[in-house]
Amino acid sequence: ERNPRGKEAKGNVVVSVRVRPDLSAQESSQADGEWMVDGRRSLVAYRGREGGDYHYDNVFATHDNNAKVYDASAKRLVRRVMEGYHGTVFAYGMTGTGKTFSMQGTATSPGVIPLAITDIFSYIRETPHREFLLRVSYLEIYNEKIHDLLSPPSTSTGPAAPQQEEIKLREDSKRGVYATPLKEEIVQSPTQLLRVIARGDHARRTSSTQYNARSSRSHAVVQIVVESRERVPLGGAVLDFKRAAATPGGVRVSTLSLIDLAGSERAAESKERRAEGAHINKSLLTLGTVIARLSDDKDRSGNPTDKDGKHLPYRDSKLTRLLQGALSGDSLVSILCTIQIGSQGSAAPANNHTGETLNTLKFAARAK
Ligand code: ADP
Ligand code: MG
Repeated sequence: ERNPRGKEAKGNVVVSVRVRPDLSAQESSQADGEWMVDGRRSLVAYRGREGGDYHYDNVFATHDNNAKVYDASAKRLVRRVMEGYHGTVFAYGMTGTGKTFSMQGTATSPGVIPLAITDIFSYIRETPHREFLLRVSYLEIYNEKIHDLLSPPSTSTGPAAPQQEEIKLREDSKRGVYATPLKEEIVQSPTQLLRVIARGDHARRTSSTQYNARSSRSHAVVQIVVESRERVPLGGAVLDFKRAAATPGGVRVSTLSLIDLAGSERAAESKERRAEGAHINKSLLTLGTVIARLSDDKDRSGNPTDKDGKHLPYRDSKLTRLLQGALSGDSLVSILCTIQIGSQGSAAPANNHTGETLNTLKFAARAK
């Protein structure tokens, strides 16, 4: 009932906006002179110049916690991945608005990644007639280069230190687009899966002395490949035989991609920042274009062209190229856009970022 349009229940693309609490404000005022956030009507409205009403599938106000965000924006998608569809969750927004908080969460308030992992293993427990194989990889795309966070280059320095082999994207008919060489770990329990991801997070933190600067300019991509098939029944009861015959070949392969995107703010002025900024803007722009087409009901062909036969620009960025299979056909996408809006009169930094916040809202609107 929270979602009268019911898009969340049907659509392939779910777009949500989450408003981060203004931690400097005394109370979590949801309305000030310019902004209005209405979770019940899934509405964010801006009354300033360039104002407007923005509707989404979900709008989470500041009192909504990670569990609620997950339940409404990603839970169904995770289930669909277990059933054999590709699913991708993106956190999009400017730096400091809560992307990592939403994806990773904290020990007391786990985010999308740990909650998804819990659900994956619950599904496996509840589906004894199938057997599952889970593989996880974790990579970072920085300046249009792919880095393997599960197999980082040696930390030893000096001329003899081995360089990580350049990771390339390849495509074949069976696997679709994939990164190689890339480490994939087979995991058999939630703890093991969480530990592998924590290892990647650690590598991401230590691979750069300027972690915050770099992490806000790179995309972090966790991919969990789910393979499953009917268990071969011992003794071959007739009913089981029928069930096995209903899925010829029997093996389903799907991927859950959980992505903490680079900050959507325009990069600062220095020369290298400009180059980084151009890469980031290009990949986010391409992502927006591809998702907008995916959300178009008329385009479910799975072909890399839109309904007018125009080519979709997957190849314009590493991110969209890597996700090509996950961003076409029957795949599911959930975009969680994070914003922060200041309360009236506060000196919250968000007040200086109205333009960026509106950009996030427009990105989210375009994706729908
Ligand atoms: P981003 O990854 O988008 O740069 P973070 O997730 O690191 O932003 O969030 C910035 C800070 O704000 C962190 O200290 C985080 O714990 C806090 N924060 C973000 N969103 C929330 C929220 N919804 N509730 C409480 N704290 C939050
Ligand atoms: Mg972050």
